[in-house]
Order: sequence, then structure tokens, then C-alpha cells
Amino acid sequence: MKVYCPYCREDVDYKIERREVKEFKGIEIDTYENVAICSKCNNDLYINDIEKENNKRIHELYREKVDIIKPEDIVNFRKKYGISQRELTSILGFGKMTINRYEQGKLPMKSQSDYIRLLIENENEFIKKVNQAYEKNEITKKTYEKIIPNSDIKIKKIEKEDIQNLFRQQIEEVLNRKPDIYNGYKQLDLNKVENIISYMAKKVNNLTITSLNKYLWYIDMLSFNQRSVAITGLTYQHEKFGPTIIEQEYNEISLLDDKYKREDYENEIGTMTKIVSNKNYDLSNFSKKEIEIINTIIKLLKDKTVSEISKMSHKEEAWKKTKRYENISFEYAMNLKILKNI
Ligand SMILES: [Zn+2]
Repeated sequence: MKVYCPYCREDVDYKIERREVKEFKGIEIDTYENVAICSKCNNDLYINDIEKENNKRIHELYREKVDIIKPEDIVNFRKKYGISQRELTSILGFGKMTINRYEQGKLPMKSQSDYIRLLIENENEFIKKVNQAYEKNEITKKTYEKIIPNSDIKIKKIEKEDIQNLFRQQIEEVLNRKPDIYNGYKQLDLNKVENIISYMAKKVNNLTITSLNKYLWYIDMLSFNQRSVAITGLTYQHEKFGPTIIEQEYNEISLLDDKYKREDYENEIGTMTKIVSNKNYDLSNFSKKEIEIINTIIKLLKDKTVSEISKMSHKEEAWKKTKRYENISFEYAMNLKILKNI
């Protein structure tokens, strides 16, 4: 079977190489991953199905070691009350697709996993949560009565909660940390993140989730290089295809839809997701210098393919000197290879 190689820019044969994986998220594991390699140029190729399989294998081991809830535990819990993924998501106040993704095998954070398990094991806690969700108008009367039948509790409904804000809360929970060397001494500014993404999606053709991670990382690194402080306050980690926002929160960030939308499309290597701007970004909170930095990175990267950008990031000391899944320190911003292109 042939697959498109972004380096050769043509369909190529590929071979599979097996590589050891000894660590995941700081936990020792002993397994392997399969990596597709272009038969012509020997570069690693990203093939969605192979990555999925790798992740599944690694995640399962990690799940056991760290004691993370299993997808079927969540499915069984839902079935007990006859509620849908969406209904459970709304009750828990998670992002739209969270339960769906957990049931598909995405790894929850330990804290979220513990929280779900707590509710599964303590019906009273769960019922409390259902009541709250109903009060906030996050679930319908129908859902409510499925779980708590014949209830005659009169609950005062408050204004319809914005699901997007729940999403933002979730992102803040994970990413809003005290300023340190891993967020570029900058507290998370989600508003800026959303505006930068909307702005970039307008300026860049085909802004995929993968390249989005690199754009943001380069913007923050360049900012740190020039001003000793990042712009967004995001924290990034070393992933196989370059630096990415930690805990896969780029998924949640990409689902915020005030200023941009996700659009899925098919290509040679599977389903890709790109970000499309709603063109309502507001840069008035950015300094002149910050806008200059953002524009510099856009100019540098916008004509490059996802793989080319990924490859550029692999040349950075920040990537070479960190291990997989390790958070990337901004100290490496002092030695940015990309600066040579400016
Ligand atoms: Zn190739």
C-alpha cells in the first residue's frame, strides 16, 4: 500500500520499524511502537491508524499502572441509567466530546478519572451532580427524570449556561499554572490563545491541529527569546511530531467555537482536522511587539507543510534535549534555530 510522503511529495511505499518505548508520562513502561518509514527518503511518516494502534498499546499499559478508569466502566455506568454520552458529559460539566473520547479510549487525566470513578461508586454524589446540572439548565427535564424518576423537586432554573464556558473552565483547570519556566513565566491567557488562533486561521491556508501546536509554540518561544516572557502562557511537551500543548488540551482548545471552527476533511492519511477562522479576532489586547512576533512566525511557517514544520521543530535544541512526553522548558528559547531564517 502506498501512502503520501510530504517530504518526497508523492505516494511512496513504506516500511514499518519497531521501536522500544520505555516511558510514558513519567511512568516506566516496557513496550514498543510501530513507525512507518518512507522507503525513498527514510523519514518517519504519520499514519493515523498506526499512531492510533501505538497509542492504544501504550495507553493500556499506562492505564493499568496508574489505575485509570476503563472505557467499559463508563459505558456500563451510562447504561445503568440509560443516558447518552452527551447527557453524561453535560452532567459532569465536561467538554462536549469528552465522554465520547474517553469511551473511544482517549486517556483521561488521573484527576478526571478519579472524579468519574468517585461518581460511579457513590450514587449520592452522582445524584447531587445531576441536580446541579438540572438547576443550571445543562440537562433537560427528560434526562433528569430518566435518572431520578418521579421526582417532584421543584428546581429553579437559572440562565442557560454557556457550554463554551464550561469548556474554558476545563482548559483553565489543566493549563492555568503559576508562571514558571514551562509556561514562559506567563499565566495562561485563553482569550489571547483564541484570538491568535482566529487570526492565524485567517492568514494561514490549511491550519491543521498539528501545525497549530507548532505555530503557538514558536510564537511563545520567539516571544520568550525577545522579551523573556511568553504570550499565551500555554505549556508544551515533547511529542513525536514536535512540541504540543500538554494533556492534549489542543483538542479542547480547538473545540472553542467563538472565534474559529473545526473542519474535518479526508486525505491520503486519514481524517485531518483544520481550523477555520470566524474572522472576528480582536488584537487590541496585544502589544505592537506581540503582533510583530505573531506575524513573524506566520510569515515563516505559512508556506510550509505540516511535516516541514514538524521537521523544523525537530531541529530545535528544545526538542533534541527533551525526552518524549517531557514538558519543554523555555530556557531553550535562547537558542532558537528558526531565528536564522528571520
Ligand atoms: Zn519520502
